[in-house]
Amino acid sequence: MNDNSIFKEKTPLILIVDDVVKNLQVLGTILSKQNYKIAAANNGEQAIKIANNTLPDLILLDIMMPGISGFEVCSRLKKDPRTKDISIIFLTAKIEPEDIVKGFEAGGVDYVIKPFNSIELLARVKTHLELKISRDLLKTKNEQLRELAITDSMTGLYNHRYIVDSLSERIAEAKRYKQSLSVAMLDIDYFKKVNDNHGNLFGDFVLIRISTIIEESIRKTDIAGRYGGEEYLIIFTNTDKKSAFNTLERIRKSIEKEKWDKGDLVVTISGGLSELEDEDYSKLIKKADNLLYKAKENGRNRNEM
Ligand SMILES: [Mg+2]
Repeated sequence: MNDNSIFKEKTPLILIVDDVVKNLQVLGTILSKQNYKIAAANNGEQAIKIANNTLPDLILLDIMMPGISGFEVCSRLKKDPRTKDISIIFLTAKIEPEDIVKGFEAGGVDYVIKPFNSIELLARVKTHLELKISRDLLKTKNEQLRELAITDSMTGLYNHRYIVDSLSERIAEAKRYKQSLSVAMLDIDYFKKVNDNHGNLFGDFVLIRISTIIEESIRKTDIAGRYGGEEYLIIFTNTDKKSAFNTLERIRKSIEKEKWDKGDLVVTISGGLSELEDEDYSKLIKKADNLLYKAKENGRNRNEM
């Protein structure tokens, strides 16, 4: 039984590969006593197929097999981004230093000499599984942290910092490739009144719903973020302000038409749209912000460019 805490997060899956069925049986018996999940293959092609389908944590891989050798199986798996992180331990009948070197060069992490000493085999398997699973957990945690760091937790849009960083990257790209780029600053009209009259919970709901409308109206290459309280920023990549304006109008009309289940409540949004000339991101945002101010002055529920 495994009492190791890291294996409680996930039962490890081991793929054993050997052309000799007797070896597979011996390995299978030793490993299944440890509560590992086992998959088996008796040739290289099959091993690659199963590895792709099941993404095992570890492969015990025989070197000498008819057809493609263990080295070849290993190099192929290491070239595929889906399978490259699987730990591979070679099984070898002879201790030729050059074989061992070749195994490490192919991307193996360790080797075990046949016939197996089951204690040694299990110790090596356990060590490499722990390493592999720790790495996987760390990777997942890092991805989650990264996601948290760039996302606005309420709306699920990108947060202020990420959208501003993205804008300066996109500006650099637009300048390099001589492409157009437009930026819209949007602000919900009289949002304070919505909160005062219907409560902050409903206000949050409005923010989320409008985020969804914005997300659904832009292209995959555009980026929308929550800039501040009830402010959104949209980056229109490779787009001049004339075509970006059409999208902004679509967003504005969708929001105006939205039914809120609060009597005849109508929520509207105003927007300012600027196109990149030669300025940096802060001046470009300022330009959009000034136009947003103009839209407010000119009666709200409108876009200016
Ligand atoms: Mg063999």
